[in-house]
Amino acid sequence: MNSKEIPYKIYLTEEEMPKNWYNLRADMKIKPAPLVNPGTLKPMTAEELGGVFCDELVKQELDNDTKYYPIPDEIRNFYKMYRPSPLVRAYCLEKALGTPAKIYYKFEGNNTSGSHKLNSAIAQAYYAKKQGLVGVTTETGAGQWGTALSMACAYLGLDCKVYMVKVSYEQKPFRREVMRTYGASVTPSPSMDTEVGRNILKEFPGTGGSLGCAISEAVEVAVTNPGYRYVLGSVLNQVLLHQSVIGEEAKIAMDKYGIQPDVVIGCAGGGSNLGGLIAPFMGEKLRGEADYQIIAVEPASCPSFTRGKFAYDFCDTGMICPLAKMYTLGSGFMPSPIHAGGLRFHGMSPVLSQLYHDGYMEARTVEQTAVFEAATQFARTEGILPAPESSHAIRAAIDEALKCKETGEEKTILFGLTGTGYFDMVAYEKFNNKEMTDYIPTDADLEVGLSKLPPQPEF
Ligand SMILES: *Cc1c(COP(=O)(O)O)cnc(C)c1O
Repeated sequence: MNSKEIPYKIYLTEEEMPKNWYNLRADMKIKPAPLVNPGTLKPMTAEELGGVFCDELVKQELDNDTKYYPIPDEIRNFYKMYRPSPLVRAYCLEKALGTPAKIYYKFEGNNTSGSHKLNSAIAQAYYAKKQGLVGVTTETGAGQWGTALSMACAYLGLDCKVYMVKVSYEQKPFRREVMRTYGASVTPSPSMDTEVGRNILKEFPGTGGSLGCAISEAVEVAVTNPGYRYVLGSVLNQVLLHQSVIGEEAKIAMDKYGIQPDVVIGCAGGGSNLGGLIAPFMGEKLRGEADYQIIAVEPASCPSFTRGKFAYDFCDTGMICPLAKMYTLGSGFMPSPIHAGGLRFHGMSPVLSQLYHDGYMEARTVEQTAVFEAATQFARTEGILPAPESSHAIRAAIDEALKCKETGEEKTILFGLTGTGYFDMVAYEKFNNKEMTDYIPTDADLEVGLSKLPPQPEF
């Protein structure tokens, strides 16, 4: 098909929207390593996980074999309020770059949470409700996940307790108020509410907090309050499963026009949007049906894939969560406070970690001023003000397109535009004032976190 016939936006009808989530693990020959109990160093059982997570989500977490999970009608109907998300041909950006590459992006920012996180929030809240729970607890960093979960809980009538990383709580009061508008309670973390919070404050007085620390607090509150469970917005296998709706939609839309991407790019914090976007493409790659170049983009200041270790580690700073085998900078890693670009988590999805380890995907780092340059160029050409996290993927997509300009290759590039940046204007302000600096941790900086990995299980 002539590329002139491809519209700016490719939508799907409600009927065409995916009916299943795709479980990438079913097609992996080497499965991701299981979550491990830090006390016994044995794989977590469903019973142990059931104290923290809802039963159905435990089942999804442990299931490496079921390829397709039908999306329950209630969730699919909720999806219909804000999905399908548009797949956009970035004609204007291509023109500005003068590249022969064809650039597409899947835009997940078209809902109030401003990101893809709502896709898993509604699923996790649905299963909590179905189990008859009173409410859920969680952490949030920049606030997108907390907002998404607040929205889902409001819709289903569940209580929602959010522990918000303190720097974000202070820098993003509007985000906090959006969550409260949806009925959630929001507490800055570390807080004095929990034992783990009090301990962290004793060790790091005045800390602005971190995701790992907020996770510890939210888990403690969930396991000590009857009728509550903890939910997590990224990293876990179940979250990647729900986020596969992004990739499934993208694949259906591209297939409609006979488009085949050469390169698929996503930013990587905990790995959920990337895992979701690449799912059907990676599935074809794993089954030997097609080949794609798949690129994870992470901040130079928090380089889990590129400079971390592939080892068992805690997902939280408080070291109360199960151990996951993943690329990690160590659960004690505290991202630099000058880092404005999101994606502050020390670890990475075990599924993506295994795929990266086995050579099915690559990873690269980008520095934050270069990220905001890409964000600005994108905003001025494509009209959407991107989230700093998403802008990591934009940076890499632009770099790939510029390479094509040099070589004359007409590659098709697909990237995930995970969200909008309206609540990130403090970071944009720093960039606009030329006050933004790049921070790359030294090996010695990283050694602080990496030297404190827990004892490794032997199996
Ligand atoms: C949370 C978030 C990310 C990073 O999380 P992943 O789990 O790695 O996808 C990226 N972009 C936006 C807009 C986010 O809100």
